[in-house]
Amino acid sequence: MSCIGTAGHVDHGKSTLVTALTGIDPDRLSEEKARGMTIDLGFAWVTLPSGQEVSIVDVPGHESFIRNMLAGVGGIDVALLVIAADEGVMPQTEEHLAILDLLRVESGVIAVTKCDLVDDEWLALVCEDILERLSRTTLANSPLIACSALTGKGLPELLSALDDAVAAAPARRNLGRPRLPIDRVFTMSGFGTVVTGTLQEGQLRAGQEVEVQPRGLRARVRGLQAHRHAVDEAQPGGRLAVNLTGIARSGLRRGDVLALPGMFQPTTALDVRLDVLASAPRALLHNAEVEVYLGSAEVPARIALLAQDELEPGATGWAQLRLAHPLVAARGDRFIIRIPSPSLTIGGGVVVDPFPRRHRRRDPSVLSWLETLADGTSGDIVLAMLRGQSAMRRAPESQPARLGGYGGRELAELAWVVSMPAPRVEEALRALVARDQVVTAGSFFFASDQWQRLSHDALMLVREYHRQYPLRAGMPREEWRSRLQVAPREASEVLVRLEAEGALSEVHNGRGAFVAEPAHAPRLAAEQQQGVDKMLARFRNEPFSPPTRPEIEEALGSEVTAWLIEQGTLIRLNEAVLLDRDAYREALRRVVGYLRAHESLTVADARDLLGTTRKYMLALFEYTDERRYTLRRGDDRILGPQAAEVDALIQEEKSD
Ligand code: GDP
Ligand code: MG
Repeated sequence: MSCIGTAGHVDHGKSTLVTALTGIDPDRLSEEKARGMTIDLGFAWVTLPSGQEVSIVDVPGHESFIRNMLAGVGGIDVALLVIAADEGVMPQTEEHLAILDLLRVESGVIAVTKCDLVDDEWLALVCEDILERLSRTTLANSPLIACSALTGKGLPELLSALDDAVAAAPARRNLGRPRLPIDRVFTMSGFGTVVTGTLQEGQLRAGQEVEVQPRGLRARVRGLQAHRHAVDEAQPGGRLAVNLTGIARSGLRRGDVLALPGMFQPTTALDVRLDVLASAPRALLHNAEVEVYLGSAEVPARIALLAQDELEPGATGWAQLRLAHPLVAARGDRFIIRIPSPSLTIGGGVVVDPFPRRHRRRDPSVLSWLETLADGTSGDIVLAMLRGQSAMRRAPESQPARLGGYGGRELAELAWVVSMPAPRVEEALRALVARDQVVTAGSFFFASDQWQRLSHDALMLVREYHRQYPLRAGMPREEWRSRLQVAPREASEVLVRLEAEGALSEVHNGRGAFVAEPAHAPRLAAEQQQGVDKMLARFRNEPFSPPTRPEIEEALGSEVTAWLIEQGTLIRLNEAVLLDRDAYREALRRVVGYLRAHESLTVADARDLLGTTRKYMLALFEYTDERRYTLRRGDDRILGPQAAEVDALIQEEKSD
């Protein structure tokens, strides 16, 4: 399905021509009927001679309603520029033509209408003038059709010229990410909320869950209508009315974008290539305030010129648009900028990066990077995006202060970012991998230099951790991941590759997952070993009333103490009390042995059994109760259901 949009000066006969061609009066508002003038967008459709059905968007020509025109012109494939033969080219003819040119609408037909009002000589002069104005625009080679909505002259020729223009227009791309820039919101009794727009870049189906950005609201598609007919699935290109449930009309307005959940994130800055119209009254200055029109949205913005202090009329330059409100945009989107006074269209351009960082001005690396993104081959663009001066992510994550930002992306995300079909991106990646410019880690792709940086950082983190905590198995995996600022799934793939390269290894023990250097083995330094030997000697001297944790930590430090526990050399009964392994097993043997011979054991008897104090005994029972080697009955202990495990422990001791 294709969409034709009218353009041209007010009163030149656009709406009358649409009515004559389609039988549908696009002026639907009562105010429009009363004033005989189009104020807002109007919609019609027609079956062309080839049998192809097309949508028509009729725009207002009056300069006061240019913003409505801009909301409708964004989605069109073919322009129908209407020029009244009696008046010829007028200011909004020129402004609309400039807009079509900036939006790169390549296909069009020029209707020189009201030709019933002029003689042939005049008509010839007007046509000559029009051809002159069209030259140097995208519509330079469009056919001129002299016609009259009043007499019907030229209308068949106009329809067949439109047919040719539709056939010549570039095919609507389908990137699998449907989006509908909303140009109208209304309620219909019995149906509820309805939004309309021209569907782009993907299909939409009835029943689908959708999201409205930049508001982040969820809704469901209850039904779809194209040209008043219900459809189950809509293809990109056509006008579409979408009946939504789960969302109120008051929550929506023109400029919002309907898309599939999670597909589009709003942005507040755009890196762009900007063309200033030759007809602009003055140069565009750095930091100028303008209105940006993109899709059906209109947003005030400040323009940071990245390479100059000003852009002369007719000049082109790189800029970052800092938007006053978030909007939805993707690489390749075209936009228009206007200044408020005098109210004029002064330029427009193309989005090169919809999620840019702030740039230093006149930074050659930034400028050449933008150049590549705008004009490079698929491979250049894919590689540039992976090199990632862009912080862009489909699902933005917090950006790192120091580490992170390695730009790893999966195919679908990359295709999204570069606005190219996935197979083309895949092909480009294959070539880049073959040339060692891109590295894969599982399903993630990295620019080689970014991968070098990532593996270096990943290794340094672990090495530093080993240096700081030589007694630990390694850096907790989650800490490693979050320090690197890499998302969980990506981190897993990265680690798998680094393991395969022999750079790092993942260690699992009872306490969790750790990342270590393959050669790392926790080992005590000589002087630590001396301290430990001394301490363990004290444990052997008084096996059942040994030094407490604060005393051990005082002597050995908390790292070594923790290590002795981790190694199983010391058993931690509670916060304060530890036993060495042999004493612990001996204590268990005696307690369980006693309970097998007797009904129960009091704390006092137990204390005597081990020759220790109440404090140690209570700590031991705390531990054995928890493991159900013993059970508490009143203040006494009886044999617990897990007591058999103790035999296994003691067995282990014998074989030690
Ligand atoms: P728009 O502002 O471009 O949509 O212009 P309209 O379609 O509203 O037409 C403006 C005026 O021109 C109306 O009074 C129409 O009746 C008149 N008009 C439109 N087309 C023709 C035509 O082909 N011949 C003549 N004589 N008048 C026309
Ligand atoms: Mg009109």
